[in-house]
Amino acid sequence: MKLDVDVLRYLSKDDFRVLTAVEMGMRNHELVPSELVVRIASLKHGGTYKVLKNLLKYKLLHHDSSKYDGFRLTYLGYDFLAIKTLVNRGVFVAVGRQIGVGKESDIFEVAKEDGTVLAMKLHRLGRTSFRAVKSKRDYLGHRNNYNWLYLSRLAALKEFAFMKALEEHGFPVPNAVDCNRHCVVMSLVQGYPLVQVKQLQNPDIVFETIIGLVVHLAEHGLIHCDFNEFNIMIDDDEKVTMIDFPQMVSVSHRNAQMYFDRDVECIFKFFSKRFNLSFQEHTDEIDGDTEEYDRPCFSSIEKCTGFLDKELSASGFTGKDQDEIEKFIEEGIEKDTGSEDEGMADEGPNSDEFDETNIKEFDSLQLLEQPERVNCDEKGKAEERQQFCEAGQSSGRETQDTSDKEEEANETGNEDDAELMHRLNKQRRRAVAAVHGRRKTLTSRNSYKDKGGKSSHNSKIQKQLSGW
Ligand code: ADP
Ligand code: MG
Repeated sequence: MKLDVDVLRYLSKDDFRVLTAVEMGMRNHELVPSELVVRIASLKHGGTYKVLKNLLKYKLLHHDSSKYDGFRLTYLGYDFLAIKTLVNRGVFVAVGRQIGVGKESDIFEVAKEDGTVLAMKLHRLGRTSFRAVKSKRDYLGHRNNYNWLYLSRLAALKEFAFMKALEEHGFPVPNAVDCNRHCVVMSLVQGYPLVQVKQLQNPDIVFETIIGLVVHLAEHGLIHCDFNEFNIMIDDDEKVTMIDFPQMVSVSHRNAQMYFDRDVECIFKFFSKRFNLSFQEHTDEIDGDTEEYDRPCFSSIEKCTGFLDKELSASGFTGKDQDEIEKFIEEGIEKDTGSEDEGMADEGPNSDEFDETNIKEFDSLQLLEQPERVNCDEKGKAEERQQFCEAGQSSGRETQDTSDKEEEANETGNEDDAELMHRLNKQRRRAVAAVHGRRKTLTSRNSYKDKGGKSSHNSKIQKQLSGW
C-alpha cells in the first residue's frame, strides 16, 4: 500500500481533528454518521463538512451510504494518525523508503532527529493471505472494516509488548522503541531475512543458534508460531535476530505442541534444503541414537509459564487482549469454529463512548492544537528530511496558501463527490442547527478540546513538526 507522507504536509489541524473524531466515532459505529463527526470535532460553523471533503479527497476516509450515510477511516487515515502522534512524541521526524512487505504489514524506514534510522511496522490485518480468510470475514460480518483496524492495533500492541519483554530477557530481537495504534517503531536490523541468504560461513552454528532460540523461548513459556526463514534476520557476522511476534502463544496453549513442532520443522527443512545439513527423518520418538541433530522434544523442555507476564502487562498488553487476538490469528491450522468466534470483540475493549480509555488516545489531538509554524532555522536538517521523504514541496508552509490550493483542487477534482456533497451540505445545515440547539453534554464530557495548551512540551512538538 502506498504511503504518501507528503500529504501530511497539507493537512491542517482541523483535518486531524476531524480524522480523530471519525476514529473516536468508530469505537461505537462501523460507519460514523456525519452528525456525530460534527459533534465530536466541534469545529466552528459547520467547518467539519469542508474538512470531510478534503479527507475524502486524500483517501484518508471512506464514505459509505449503503446502509446509512457515514464515514470510516481507511488504513491510510489510520497511518497518518499514528505517524502524526509518533512524530508528536518525538519518536521520529521523517518517513523514508519501504523496506519490507509482510503478510499483514508494511515496513518503512523512519529517521530520528539525530539521523538514526529506525524501522516502522504498520500492521494491516485483513489485507491478504490469512489461510482461513473467508471464515474470518464471515465472523467479522458487517463490522469487518472497523475490526480490521481494531485487530491491527491489537497486533501492534502485542508485538510491541512481546518484543520489549523478550529484549529484557536477552533474546536477540529488535529494540522496541514505541507503539501507537497499529504502528510499532523498532530498531532497524542490519541484515537480511534468512530466506535471502544463499551461503553461510557456519551453517551448523547458525542452525544450532536458531533451534536454541526455539527451545529457549519455550523455556520462557512461549512459542513463536511463525518461526521460519522469513522472520529470522541475519547479518554479515551471521548474528541472528528474530522478528515478527503478533502470533506468539503460550506453551500452555491447547495446540502448543503442534505449534512448537511446526516451528522446529520449518527450520530443519530450510537448513536441509538450503544448506544441505543432514537430519534424521522426523519421528515422534526420541530414540537417542547418534544422529547429529535430534529435533528438540516439546514435552522434555522445562517450561516456565507466566515468566513474561509482568513485562507484558507493563506494556499494556492484557490477557484479554491475548485471548482476542489469539482467536483471530490462528493460521488456519484448525478449522474455524464459526459460532465459537461469534462472541468475540464486538467493539473491542474500549466500547464505552467517551470513557477514560478514549481520552488516552487523545494525544493526537494535543498535536492538533499546536499553532503551525514555519521553521527556517534548521535548514540543513530540513533538507535532509526533505530528501528522506522524497518531498517535492517545501515543508511547513501551510495555512492560507495551502488551504486555498486545496479548495481549488476540491472544486475541480471531484465530480464523483457531487452527490455526496449535496447530501453533506444538507446534513451540514441540519447538524449545525442540532449542535447549536443541544448536545452540549457530549463535547463537554470530552476534555480533548481543552488539551494542548501552551506547555513546554508544545515547543518541542513544534520543532519536531517543522519537518512535516
Ligand atoms: P509480517 O508480520 O507482515 O510478516 P515482518 O515483521 O515479518 O512482517 O516484516 C516483514 C519484512 O520486513 C521482514 O521480512 C524484513 O525483511 C523486514 N523487517 C521487519 N522488521 C524489520 C526491522 N526491524 N529491521 C529491518 N527489516 C525489518
Ligand atoms: Mg513475517
